[in-house]
Amino acid sequence: MRSANHGRAGHRSARVPSGAPDLARRALLVGDAPGPVLLPPWSLAPDAFDRACTRCGKCVEACPTHVLKLAAGTVQVDFADGECTFCGECVASCPEPAFDVAARAAGARPWTVVARIDATCLARLGVECQSCGDACEAHAIRFRPRPNGAVPEPRVDGGHCTGCGACVRVCPASAIDVRPRHVDPVSA
Ligand code: SF4
Ligand code: SF4
Ligand code: SF4
Repeated sequence: MRSANHGRAGHRSARVPSGAPDLARRALLVGDAPGPVLLPPWSLAPDAFDRACTRCGKCVEACPTHVLKLAAGTVQVDFADGECTFCGECVASCPEPAFDVAARAAGARPWTVVARIDATCLARLGVECQSCGDACEAHAIRFRPRPNGAVPEPRVDGGHCTGCGACVRVCPASAIDVRPRHVDPVSA
């Protein structure tokens, strides 16, 4: 299975996308700090997406789980309010050639991203927590037993993680981020 999206999260908000100077300026004015941006599933590569997307917001309106936002001069995924169900409504609603429609129709993977868990994870700090594992329908988060009865800590299995983001919102420590797979295939 080929992938439509080859790890498109990155620091692209640090530059001003062509054709959207007003939105980029607005983002700075309202305090949308530049940072990693995750483009929607099945979107084209960042430069091509920038050129094709008019920031009309139709995909944002179409997303039933409200994970798409217009911020920092681009459409981006934000898992703060939900997860991606890979329903494809964003692709279907877009009037511009910003998505790889053919790849989706051919059953291509929507993106090549994976969840990462950082050092602020409560379980890693010795506090019992398995909320992310409970939320992960793909069973991609496994809890490793540790010696001397220590609290088991989570590991993301990059082979099973779909990048859906369901684990992000439930984490009480905000320890989970979804990033391009080539950055870190399996969380440390
Ligand atoms: S595939 Fe569906 S849930 Fe995921 S971003 Fe697109 S519209 Fe939202
Ligand atoms: S939900 Fe967050 S704090 Fe809890 S085990 Fe998972 S990563 Fe750690
Ligand atoms: S992003 Fe989705 S599939 Fe991946 S670990 Fe989190 S809940 Fe599981």
